[in-house]
Amino acid sequence: MTDKMTVADDVVVSIDYTLTLDDGTEIDTSRGQEPLAYLHGHGQLIPGLERELYGMEVGDSKKVSVAPADGYGDVDPNAVQLLSHDVFPDDLALEPGMRLQMATPEGHPLEAVVKEIRDEGVLLDFNHPLAGETLNFDVSIAALRPATDEELAHGHAHGAHGHGH
Ligand code: ZN
Repeated sequence: MTDKMTVADDVVVSIDYTLTLDDGTEIDTSRGQEPLAYLHGHGQLIPGLERELYGMEVGDSKKVSVAPADGYGDVDPNAVQLLSHDVFPDDLALEPGMRLQMATPEGHPLEAVVKEIRDEGVLLDFNHPLAGETLNFDVSIAALRPATDEELAHGHAHGAHGHGH
């Protein structure tokens, strides 16, 4: 095998990255930490980023701008809802900007942000905090290796120290 390995489906890719918004706010970075290892082609990254990394080699870097539609979606006005005060425990001191862990009727976890507290209820925003934002990634490929059978079966990468299952 003389072919250089490139980013492709079923490859474990380690990336160094910095994520900023259009206004320059830095949301996330791997700087100063281990690179992020993920299994390519299994939906572990947002689609608009994963698609742009195909074919890259170790040492390559790229700036990728991901529109909301390929990131966390547009802001959905219907995802802002007024919930009755009865829904919340009496001893919970709600404040605007507070993040709450809620659940759907089926029991799926759902994060919401308190927007406003009104006499008639609490206005919650169920949009993803990054909905409506263009995501600007500065990515470089730190390492590539074939996935193990176990990783392919699980659909995600396992770290050097395992992850407990
Ligand atoms: Zn696993």
